[in-house]
Amino acid sequence: MYLFKRRNDLRHHLEQAKLKGQTIGFVPTMGALHDGHLSLVAAAKEKCDIVVCSIFVNPTQFNDPKDFEKYPITIEQDIVKLTDAGTDVLFLPSVAEMYPEGLASGKHYDFGNLEKVLEGEFRAGHFQGVGRVVHKLLDIVMPHQLFMGQKDFQQCLIIKELIHLLALPVQLVVCPTRREADGLAMSSRNVRLNAAHRQQATDIFKVLTAIRDQFGKVPNSTLSKEAMTQLKKDGFEPEYVEIITLRNGQVTREDAPSADKTVAVVLAAWLGGVRLIDNMILQGQL
Ligand code: AMP
Repeated sequence: MYLFKRRNDLRHHLEQAKLKGQTIGFVPTMGALHDGHLSLVAAAKEKCDIVVCSIFVNPTQFNDPKDFEKYPITIEQDIVKLTDAGTDVLFLPSVAEMYPEGLASGKHYDFGNLEKVLEGEFRAGHFQGVGRVVHKLLDIVMPHQLFMGQKDFQQCLIIKELIHLLALPVQLVVCPTRREADGLAMSSRNVRLNAAHRQQATDIFKVLTAIRDQFGKVPNSTLSKEAMTQLKKDGFEPEYVEIITLRNGQVTREDAPSADKTVAVVLAAWLGGVRLIDNMILQGQL
């Protein structure tokens, strides 16, 4: 596996591959890699000739400085995992390499209501930071396909919108959420849960599957409310549990969504000082 820290070195290396007609698949990550990340690498390997992965803990997408400081860093293990998974290239830039202009100034992306609801409501500025870093990374790597996880449902919608707004020549491939055996969605933040909270965290999957089983039989707003109550009873501090319908890339809340629309349940909840997010598609696809 090649490792590049400088954008120009990476660009030059990938230009050679593109000249040979090879296709590039790109998997951006913030490291602390688990099997969820590696499933994206596997999907990229299946579809593309060269797999590029980036590890960059992006400061502009953290609305909470403590979350940024506590973000797990396991770079040596990550390199071993990526090598074993057959990754061709790792891009490991510094903050200065990614943001030579500094962190404060930045382009504003018009994501409409999408960046103000759900995650956007509780993490002000988060999606501007995500848009900014993914735009930069796509400019550097210029991949044919971009692989992202359904785990970050709203992030996938934002990146779809970014690609559309800027007419970027890349195809977004959304990969299914990888879960632990007990249903907990794999996440880099799971290592911050203590043993008791780790066990409790499986309730999120139970709440999502209960909603999936009742979807269509009970009004969506009732299902959301009941799930919030259940999570509070289980010791969580839920921020939202919403059943959302996608309309032209934007999010709406409808009690009787039509059958041709994508509908999903999305949630965010705190447990033992760790913020967990998860979702399940109830109808259609992302
Ligand atoms: P992160 O390092 O958390 O920024 O995630 C990097 C990429 O991995 C994003 O596209 C995530 O959606 C994806 N990802 C994170 N967790 C999972 C998971 N459990 N299953 C599949 N993809 C995931």
